[in-house]
Amino acid sequence: MTSTIQINEEARERFEREHHEEVAKAALEWKARWPHHCGSCQGHGGAVSYQSHPYGMGSAYEQMFDACEAIPEANICHRCGAPGLDEDWAKPCSECGWNYGSGPDDGCPQP
Ligand SMILES: [Zn+2]
Ligand SMILES: [Zn+2]
Repeated sequence: MTSTIQINEEARERFEREHHEEVAKAALEWKARWPHHCGSCQGHGGAVSYQSHPYGMGSAYEQMFDACEAIPEANICHRCGAPGLDEDWAKPCSECGWNYGSGPDDGCPQP
């Protein structure tokens, strides 16, 4: 039954390629919609990293969020580029509603 596997493989590859193109297209649209977005975090507000530390017999992973520091002014929005943020990052952007990367359309789509 090698031929069946072959076909499935091809379908999977095609699906992945199409999915990739879709994400790339969505990313372009997002960038066109937010021309003043922060080039460093691309609207995600920072980067997520994982830190492991020993836990019991194994290790535990802790999710860390490194806030984007590419924009020195705390009130500049990382999506629309307008000074719409609260100084202490407590409220979403008053200009576009950007919510520090946690909103559904906050960050540039990534594969
Ligand atoms: Zn940023
Ligand atoms: Zn904004």
